[in-house]
Amino acid sequence: MPEPSTVGFIGLGRMGEPMVRRLVAGGVTVRGYDSAAEAVKALDGVITPVDTAPAAADGVPVVILMLPDSNVVESVLDSGLLDALAPGTLLVDMSSSEPLRTRALAERVAAQGATLVDAPVSGGVSGARAGTLTIMVGGPDEAAATLEPLLALMGRVRHVGGVGAGHALKALNNLMSAAHLLASSEAILAGERFGLDPAVMLDAVNGSSGRSGSTENKWPNYIVPETYNSGFTAGLMVKDIRIALGLAEATGVPSELAARTVELWGRAADELGPDADHTEIARWLRQHTREGT
Ligand code: NAD
Repeated sequence: MPEPSTVGFIGLGRMGEPMVRRLVAGGVTVRGYDSAAEAVKALDGVITPVDTAPAAADGVPVVILMLPDSNVVESVLDSGLLDALAPGTLLVDMSSSEPLRTRALAERVAAQGATLVDAPVSGGVSGARAGTLTIMVGGPDEAAATLEPLLALMGRVRHVGGVGAGHALKALNNLMSAAHLLASSEAILAGERFGLDPAVMLDAVNGSSGRSGSTENKWPNYIVPETYNSGFTAGLMVKDIRIALGLAEATGVPSELAARTVELWGRAADELGPDADHTEIARWLRQHTREGT
């Protein structure tokens, strides 16, 4: 099936805005809605703005959500969007939501004659701009196949399982990423205290077994230059890793490291504030480095 020529898109924030630009550059018309007027304004001339979430679903085969979390996704659905979905509509939740709530929501969407597909992303704001996100799709085969050409305008599409599977995998991915960033930050700060230069350490580690997305991307691009502007907040990271810890606990998998990771990130987000960039965890650790040692 060819990609739809018009889609609804709700949530035009740090990620939604560049994702919409990719869709429009690919020839898709977007009916866009965000509760923040400035987010809609930033896409002036790019989207067809609408005044309510249900209006985004008017006459379109696909409605995409890029909202903060399951609470907001459910409140937007309950504020009239669910009732506005025409039978056959594909509702695509690209937010990082909670997998069990996504499954429950899929039943309510199905009762409406529509289909919920989860398609959370990894790759950050820079990946959204470049159209190089990894998109983890959960849902029925037919819906995933229909959506593939549309989603491919925003990145690398992987159909990972039934509904909720994408949201589960995304949370687990961020648990790994959060643990890597903590581990690499502790190690690099210890090396720095020993007298090593962070740039020299990163150059060596990135050809060695300690490398990760944190050493290859976050440290050199946001932490060493002290810009802390990756575009992903500490509050959203804590939300994601709490979901992952819940999954680990529910499945009976040992999760001591996950629990400690959540605890440390929770403290950092409390002290830095939830809107702080998540890469500020390195600055937070540095502040907690003992003086005079
Ligand atoms: P954001 O806060 O920048 O954007 C969310 C947008 O939703 C905002 O513009 C906000 O005004 C809008 N919104 C909130 N409540 C609304 C409502 N009731 N109705 C309509 N609009 C509403 O967040 P973001 O960084 O773009 O993240 C969005 C999702 O993507 C989150 O689930 C996040 O975890 C995930 N994510 C973010 C990144 C990143 O690097 N920022 C990367 C991967 C995944």
